[in-house]
Amino acid sequence: MILFKACPRCGGDLHVSGDIYGPYNQCVQCGHVVDLKPAMVTVPVKTKAPSRRGSQAA
Ligand SMILES: [Zn+2]
Repeated sequence: MILFKACPRCGGDLHVSGDIYGPYNQCVQCGHVVDLKPAMVTVPVKTKAPSRRGSQAA
């Protein structure tokens, strides 16, 4: 499904698509992405070297 001239950035055509984060519209011309449901915003947790305290018990 394509929404013609619906891009807020360049006035291009939005292509309705989606991924695991939810549906979104992406402009065919400029690639601008418009999220449809910004409900689930997952913050990527960067795990550095995990400190294993108290792991000396054997
Ligand atoms: Zn655009």
